[in-house]
This record gives sequence, structure tokens and C-alpha cells, in this order.
Amino acid sequence: MRLYNTLSRRVEELSFPSGEVKLYVCGVTPYDTSHLGHARVAVVYDTLRRYLEFRGLRVRYVQNVTDIDEPLFERARRDGVDWRTLGAQQTQRYLESMARLHVAKAEFYVPATSVIPQMQAVIERLIAQGYAYAVNGAVYFQAAADKHFGAIAHTDYAGLLAMANEMGNNPHDPHKRDPLDFVLWQPSQPDEPAWPSPWGAGRPGWHIECSTMATEYLGPQVDIHGGGADLIFPHHACEIAQAEPATGVAPFVRCWMHTGLVALGGTKMSKSLGNMVFVDDVLAHYSPDALRLAILSYPYAEPFEYTVERVAQAEQHVQTMRAALLAPTDTTGKEFDGREPYAQFLQALEDDFDTPRAILALVALAQAITQAAAAGQGVAAARQALRDLSQVLGCDSIL
Ligand SMILES: [Zn+2]
Repeated sequence: MRLYNTLSRRVEELSFPSGEVKLYVCGVTPYDTSHLGHARVAVVYDTLRRYLEFRGLRVRYVQNVTDIDEPLFERARRDGVDWRTLGAQQTQRYLESMARLHVAKAEFYVPATSVIPQMQAVIERLIAQGYAYAVNGAVYFQAAADKHFGAIAHTDYAGLLAMANEMGNNPHDPHKRDPLDFVLWQPSQPDEPAWPSPWGAGRPGWHIECSTMATEYLGPQVDIHGGGADLIFPHHACEIAQAEPATGVAPFVRCWMHTGLVALGGTKMSKSLGNMVFVDDVLAHYSPDALRLAILSYPYAEPFEYTVERVAQAEQHVQTMRAALLAPTDTTGKEFDGREPYAQFLQALEDDFDTPRAILALVALAQAITQAAAAGQGVAAARQALRDLSQVLGCDSIL
């Protein structure tokens, strides 16, 4: 298929000669209820997986669970619960919400706490190779050691630093050789969990978690690495910087695929602004199929503006499809096979995963089936096609 690669900024032809697709997607920090930002990432990659499987490929899908993270510790402290308990409970709730959206489980949801020794081994390798340095109980990656550091962000040093600072980087940390250097290992605060390490008791940085898991579970090269566009820098830049020297294999990722942000009323949906829309609240009023179609009715890389009208319109599409499957038939006329919209649907997904165009083709197929049935044509084959394609989009409850 053809897919836009954030690193090259080009739509590239991506083939899978082994018949297998290694897909890694950055997952959640499990400390709160699932909102539409989580839903969009989960639905887009679930649909991608369904499409690749429909094409006969085997998809190995790994997602991380960031169960070592400040927001999780803060929430556990606030609620007076153990951070492990909170993480486990919220991971479960996340999976339940996503299951309601027909998101099939990944092959692995890897908790960061389960790969501490592997992360330490990677950090040791990076130090030995001169990419990282230990100081005062912490280990930093030396950004200047990587000539291509931050290439995925397509900006200069000042641009990278400004972006990093906006995302929580501390440029004034006196132990850093360069303000862009980032933490691989850090001493824990007194009430945070700590693991023994060659550099002192502490905990891993966030970036080392994902590149370690991806290579540990999928090998040194991942076919498609996904995540929200807010992770491009620094998170994904840091993953590349860590993984390639550690494994000796480049590129670490064949195609970087990012989903656009989710907005409400023109503003990015975020915890800090409090303008969140939660998955379970939408599903109290609309079907999971409709929410999926609403999410997929935007190009995956563009911002998704959540509106009730958009979900209501998607619900109409669901009704159109259901009507096509249920309309009474009199099969005396010649068979309508629906071949044209069927081909258009597949062509759309093949062409940089154009889900809005695929939805239009699917609705056109449904409308054509209803018309053909009313005109006395046979529609059994076209209905089967509609069922198959609606399942690619995860509209599982239409059937
Ligand atoms: Zn990640």
C-alpha cells in the first residue's frame, strides 16, 4: 500500500514480502478515563490492522502501557492508592472502553515495568558506544552524538529545543552537556518507585521504554510505527536515536504514521484544558459503529474536530448500511454485484489509508444495494461485499 511517512515527508510504497506486518503503536499512561484522543489512535490503527488482515497479511501489533509516569504517580497519591493498583485498574478500563468500540486487542500490551532489565541493557550499550553518559545517578542521551537527531521533526536546533521545552524538557538541568540531551535513567523522587541499576536506584525515562519494547517484541526493524502527532518530537525522534545504535539496524522504522490531534470547538482536546469528551459518554447516545465512522470520516493525519453532528451523520450511514442488508429482495432480476464501489473502497485504503473516501464508497455500495433490491435485482453477493467491507472499518454491530 502507499502510506505517508512522517520521516521522509513523502507518500511511499510499502510492501510486506514476508506476509507479516510489524506494527507498534504508542499507547496510554493508564490513570484516567478514555477520551476521544485515545479512541482515535486506537480506532485508526485497529482499522489499519483490519485492512492489512483483509489483504491476507499477518499483523503483529504491539502497544505499550506507560505504567511508570508522573501523571500516574500524582493521581495515585491524590487518591491514596498504590500506583500499581491504579495502573492495572485503568489499563483494564481502557481495554474495556476500546472493546466497546470494537477495537481488537493488540498481540501484546507491554507494561513499562515489565522491561526494566531490557531497558537497562540498552542504556548500558548506549553508554559503551558513546551515545550516552551517566552523571549523578542519571543517564542522558547525548543528542549531539547522533548526526540525524530530530530529523523526523524537520526543523533546526532552535526549533527542536523550543519543541522539547514545550513538552517538559528541562534545558537548565546542570548535569546535561547540551540542553537537548534527554533522560534515559533518572533517580526517583522519595515517594516514587525505584529499581536498582548500575547508576543508582531510579527509574527509566519515557522514550527508552518504547524503543526497547518495540525491538524486544518485534525485532530491530518495525514496519509501521504509529502514534499521535504530538509524539513526533521529542518522543519518536528519541526512539530513533536510541534504537538504531542499540540494534545496529537502520532504519528502525520503515514508515512513521501519525494520527492528527483531536479537537473540540477548534481547541485541542486536553486534560489540562478540561475540554475532554469521553468514549463511554458518546457511546451512551450513539452506536460504536457510528463513533468509529465519525473518527474515520476525517483523514487520519488531519485534526479531528469532534462534533455531535458528525457522529449523528455517521449514525445515518450506519442506518443506510443496515437498510441495505435488510431490504426485502425479489431475485428475479439480474444480479447486482456492487463491484465498482467495492473496488473504490479498497483503492481508497490502498491510497494512504484514505478512510473518508472508503466510507463514501461503502455508503454508495449500500445505497446501490437498496436500489437494486427495490428494482428486483439479486443482491446476495453485493450484501456479502458490504458485510466484509463494513467489518474492515470495524462496524461489527451492523451485521
Ligand atoms: Zn511511545
